[in-house]
Amino acid sequence: MRIIVTWASAALLLLGAGSGEWKAEAQTPADSTRIAPDSALAAPAVTVPELPYRYRLRTVVLDAGHGGKDRGCAGASAREADVALALILALGKQIQENLPDVKVIYTRKTNVFIELDERAAIANRNHADLFISIHCNAGPSQSHGTEVWTMGLHKTDANLGVAQRENAVILQEKDYQKRYDGFDPRSPQSHILFSLFQSAYITNSLRFAQRVDRQLRTTVNRPSRGVKQAGFLVLWKSTMPAVLIESGFLTNPAEERYLNEKANQSYMAAAIYRAFREYKRELEGG
Ligand SMILES: [Zn+2]
Repeated sequence: MRIIVTWASAALLLLGAGSGEWKAEAQTPADSTRIAPDSALAAPAVTVPELPYRYRLRTVVLDAGHGGKDRGCAGASAREADVALALILALGKQIQENLPDVKVIYTRKTNVFIELDERAAIANRNHADLFISIHCNAGPSQSHGTEVWTMGLHKTDANLGVAQRENAVILQEKDYQKRYDGFDPRSPQSHILFSLFQSAYITNSLRFAQRVDRQLRTTVNRPSRGVKQAGFLVLWKSTMPAVLIESGFLTNPAEERYLNEKANQSYMAAAIYRAFREYKRELEGG
């Protein structure tokens, strides 16, 4: 069944449907259902589908941590920048093959250096609906397991430590104090202050993070260290739900071997893909 509505009533429906973060997500330039400009409100009646507003997850930005002069952490042989890129490319391939309505944008597809703030800027410029950053962890050789992070206040020094290590890369960037508003990656106070950013998107960030954590645990049997929060610069200025996945410890010999194998990389990517598909379906109303 189709109904007739005017642009004015469609706009009111949209305003009602698009509160909070959903509203922010819905208003992309590519969104044909975005709120009509004032000049269009007086236009004659037009026929629109019965559900004039329906949220669609259209664009995902995939971010492989590190790259170029920044190799990230390392195991006996594997480098974080390489493993993260392999996982991201495998994930992007699965999304493109199985969900052709989703536009996949990479912050990097090769071994190049990209500043942390530019990664979020790529997502913002492309009006992405979700930002996924993949990394590998480092620690004592017995430490192992996956972590899925969203922006937020760290609850333990260990959580702060992970964010500090990932944020330290800005020391290799030019003008980092200017680019990051005086942020000092070595200072706990800096992390506490800026962890409050991104709060508008925290519900959906956590929703996706929990799906990733569950899929990695249940479908590829990765040991989980849980869903956590801390202040990650790469997530800081993104204006959409955003998560950072620590895919495992390269400093743990068994985990390094696992993460460095192509077949395992595609299993892990498949688990993250399934979490993505679930999240997309849920937001789109099944
Ligand atoms: Zn990293």
